[in-house]
Amino acid sequence: MNDIFETLESDVRGYCRTWPAVFAHASGSTMTAEDGSEYLDFFSGAGALNYGHNNPELLRPLLDYLASGAVVHSLDMKTPAKRRFLETFQRLILEPRNLDYKVMFPGPTGTNTVEAALKLARKVTGRQHVLSFTNAFHGMTLGALSVTGNSMKRAGAGIPLTNSSKIPYDDYFNGETDDFMWLERVLEDSGSGVDKPAAVIVETVQGEGGLKAARAGWLRGLSDLCKKHQILLIVDDVQAGCGRTGTFFSFEESGIEPDIVCLSKSISGFGLPMALTLFRRDLDAWSPGEHNGTFRGHNPAFVTATAALERYWADDDFQNDVAGTIAALHRGLDAIAGSVEGASVRGRGLLAGIVFPDVDAAGEVAAEAYRRGLLVETSGPSDEVLKVMPALTIGHADLERGLGILAESVRAVVGSRTPALAGA
Ligand SMILES: *Cc1c(COP(=O)(O)O)cnc(C)c1O
Repeated sequence: MNDIFETLESDVRGYCRTWPAVFAHASGSTMTAEDGSEYLDFFSGAGALNYGHNNPELLRPLLDYLASGAVVHSLDMKTPAKRRFLETFQRLILEPRNLDYKVMFPGPTGTNTVEAALKLARKVTGRQHVLSFTNAFHGMTLGALSVTGNSMKRAGAGIPLTNSSKIPYDDYFNGETDDFMWLERVLEDSGSGVDKPAAVIVETVQGEGGLKAARAGWLRGLSDLCKKHQILLIVDDVQAGCGRTGTFFSFEESGIEPDIVCLSKSISGFGLPMALTLFRRDLDAWSPGEHNGTFRGHNPAFVTATAALERYWADDDFQNDVAGTIAALHRGLDAIAGSVEGASVRGRGLLAGIVFPDVDAAGEVAAEAYRRGLLVETSGPSDEVLKVMPALTIGHADLERGLGILAESVRAVVGSRTPALAGA
């Protein structure tokens, strides 16, 4: 029955190999396969489904919009749906945070917004070099790939990935070296041979690269260093943004104000493709049409994005609920990590996970969890981190049930290696 997936679809397919079910329906935090089996979702479309599957509060306005004969596709022409989105984003997100950003629609994916950010930073500064961090993930097109860490993904480029270098992310040397010692020195030394960069691009939590979370003080140090040397700071909030860490933008807690911000994944709120590149008003150096694309500003995505902002970000209620969910998740993860010698919790907010001393354990735990009806993936250069990413809207009972399945799966994997622990 599954043959067409294997005979026709390219070998590049990935998630469908670890999760071979044919998923037919979804609601909230549950996905249902064609054969009726149900899966609890601790994956959330890699962060594209922060408000759950088919959220009725977003589905209703979408269905109304589609049934009304309103414009669906319009490149970047003016539509009432785009006006409402821009007005709502300004009123509920930018103004309350005192962010004077302009909004660019760069094409609908995360890698599109990263490309736009890099291109703009180079255009504005007239410099070519960009610094990014060890284990960073910014997307699969050439510019984004050049600032990504993963060697397997980089090799896929097939050509040299140039004009960027990697610098150590927070705690890369386990606290033994001053975080910015090397960077500070080379920026001040005209003989260092390191070209002055146009920008530094950073994730506040490394979603794909192993769930390390930068400390607020480290982000402030990075921001200060960038300001001092007139280097633009780009925060790639594609995965950590839209409430995932407990605030709309993941950098709010640190108090920094990036020059450029990349958003995608959950900005449409409904799993529809959409991306934004935000930048300081004075950086808007684009000529009309200089960076364009056919699918910028897709009206159905504007409709669900607007509904999501109005439903969840008009006051503090949702953020307060999410804070409770974050606390419950971390209690559960701490308990599970505490049960395995050498394991520890990584990440921040609802972008968190557990790293095991045995690099194969996380993958085996994820496989055990799938057998028990839970979707959970892995992260990190060797897939050594179990990545736990429930919807922000997940109910208490579902969260606890999923944590229970994780605890059981961990016992099954770790117990099979150390039989003495199996009954513990
Ligand atoms: C997923 C992701 C991207 C790429 O987004 P796509 O939509 O897959 O192109 C870029 N940056 C970060 C931090 C991401 O998590």
